[in-house]
Amino acid sequence: MRLDKRLCLSTTLDRDTAAAAIVQSRVTVAGVVVTEPRQQVHESQQVCLDGVAVVLRRARYFMLHKEAGSQCSNVDGVYPSVLNLLNDPRAFELHVAGRLDVDTTGLVLVTDDGRWTFNLTRPDKQCAKVYRVQLSRPLAADTASRFAAGLSLQGESQLTAPAQLQVLGSREALLTLTEGRFHQVKRMFAAVGNRVQQLHRQQIGDIVLDIKPGEWRPLTAAEIGNFA
Ligand code: URA
Repeated sequence: MRLDKRLCLSTTLDRDTAAAAIVQSRVTVAGVVVTEPRQQVHESQQVCLDGVAVVLRRARYFMLHKEAGSQCSNVDGVYPSVLNLLNDPRAFELHVAGRLDVDTTGLVLVTDDGRWTFNLTRPDKQCAKVYRVQLSRPLAADTASRFAAGLSLQGESQLTAPAQLQVLGSREALLTLTEGRFHQVKRMFAAVGNRVQQLHRQQIGDIVLDIKPGEWRPLTAAEIGNFA
């Protein structure tokens, strides 16, 4: 990995101050001063800052079961941050990979690995997200075919990507999306004259929510591997 990233993952420095420390000749790799922040370093090489060895922290990956009334930011705002569930003083170093609205419940993935989040959210990967939806009105007969064909959302020129609707009851369905536009589920149902009353995310890619509301657990190696 790049030396500046390695320094960030081993200290409390951010990317800019890490790069500045490297340029100022304060950093050695295997005993040799390196002044190029982009230099690649191997995990096995010792990195020192001001003569003191820095230890590489492993990236962290968790699943949380978000409850309604929390927000997907990494600090508290109008609503408490969902990261409070972790009860960890270093939780603020994490970020949410794929946000949910304050009133939406379910699967939230958090990490401090920006590349992993990039892989999960990049549009060309078309990662499937599965939502369970409760509606205010009975589903119209053509909703599934309209979602499959792609919809025009208010204020957007591009149609939504084909989405799969599995009807579970007259006002309940599973919706699978492969993109992540702003308030997408609610806006899609609004576009067909319905309204989302409750929204719950139960799956992202192969990662399935399997913990109770308010709980969290580390992701398994296989789950992390989905987006590594
Ligand atoms: N779509 C929405 O409208 N809200 C969410 O929280 C997630 C997807």
